[in-house]
Amino acid sequence: MLVRQLVTLSPSFVRVNSAKRLAKSFERFFAVLRMTCFQSAGRPVCFISAFLLWYNVSAETMTGETFDPILATRALHNLGDGLTLVDTERRVVFWNTFAETLLRVSASMALGQPIDAIIQRIAAQTTAPNTTRAQLIAALAEPNPERWIEMECVSPEATRIVAARCFPLQSEEGVNIGSGILWRDVTRERTADAMKSQLLSTVSHELRTPLASIKGFATTLLRQDVKWDETAQRDFLRIIEEEADRLTEIIDNLLDMSQIEAGALRIVKEPTALRPLIRSVVDEMRMRTEAHYIVVDWPGERPRVLIDPRRIRQVLTNLIGNAIKYSPRGQITVACEVEPEVVIVSVSDQGEGIPPQYLDKIFERFFQVDGKTTRRVGGIGLGLSIARSIIEAHDGRIWAESTPGQGSTFRFTLPRVRDESNEHEVGNE
Ligand code: ADP
Repeated sequence: MLVRQLVTLSPSFVRVNSAKRLAKSFERFFAVLRMTCFQSAGRPVCFISAFLLWYNVSAETMTGETFDPILATRALHNLGDGLTLVDTERRVVFWNTFAETLLRVSASMALGQPIDAIIQRIAAQTTAPNTTRAQLIAALAEPNPERWIEMECVSPEATRIVAARCFPLQSEEGVNIGSGILWRDVTRERTADAMKSQLLSTVSHELRTPLASIKGFATTLLRQDVKWDETAQRDFLRIIEEEADRLTEIIDNLLDMSQIEAGALRIVKEPTALRPLIRSVVDEMRMRTEAHYIVVDWPGERPRVLIDPRRIRQVLTNLIGNAIKYSPRGQITVACEVEPEVVIVSVSDQGEGIPPQYLDKIFERFFQVDGKTTRRVGGIGLGLSIARSIIEAHDGRIWAESTPGQGSTFRFTLPRVRDESNEHEVGNE
């Protein structure tokens, strides 16, 4: 298996070499490895041979081509995982390039050193040094390829989750010649797992709240023993309608996110007059709040932009909706600046604002500054990440500015239409 992988890794690996052409069988392959091992006094090569054995290289899996042990060593260096091989005296005899980057320990520092000292060094970079050290040393004492040990490695650049598993190394005759450790970066998998759990808990909470409301008011309306006057009935029905809209919004957001992830977000751009579009979104949003007044700060010019109007409407609705959600009252300003190539649209509020360290993070999926507030006002942390994908699909940029305690401003750019039909469209506004 690994041999096949190595072949794929390096086409020159199967270089035709008449002297080595004989090494077509499994036995001969290892004969070459052993020979090189003695010739170069390179213990690592001997270990590599055993490592290949451990990977169940068998005569059936051999491709029959010629293998070059030097290239095999290179291939092991370039494995997508870190690899450490240790001899029977517990000294490090092989430390691949990926292990250097992943564990921030150079080969020159590790080679020839007792593995316990190197483990100590690695454990010191983790969030639980004593546990990690004890687990790794115990795993090396009884190598079990089935058992993964996970550790959180912290560096100034990033925090990574590294999984390690130890395996025994045996010679062809079954004699113990050391052990190995495979180090794997599982940060992405763990982040995805955490995101999945967060998604499930947020979404189920956000779905349950409007559903409970809909069920409660519908049950109330259906009660036979109480007669509700017309105003009360209309109030209940209005709440049911609003909560149903909230459910639809959550589901739409989830569907949009899955489309974005699949790279299937459909954007149909057409030259559009921006002013009527903004005006219609603002009119709609005014109906959603009595505590805010929404003003539009419009320049003298009436630019047309090349956009998917439905999607830009969605972005504006989200930004104004957030301005309403995250400011208890006050003015919300929708403004427009016209530049030669782009139009910059902004939405400002006088709300609680956003701490500077979160100004970028709020555009990430599921990120919410303060779980308590968002739980109160509703939301699953997807609106801004969808807005960013939509704006980027328009070759635009979206960003946030804020003074905590005083309010926030979200801005995005849209490409202008610059052709002679401009005049005609303006006339249509
Ligand atoms: P949601 O509102 O559903 O949580 P968003 O992606 O729209 O998701 O927003 C992400 C987070 O950014 C919000 O949870 C909130 O913490 C913060 N945020 C967004 N808009 C504002 C705003 N106008 N003022 C303060 N915080 C905001």
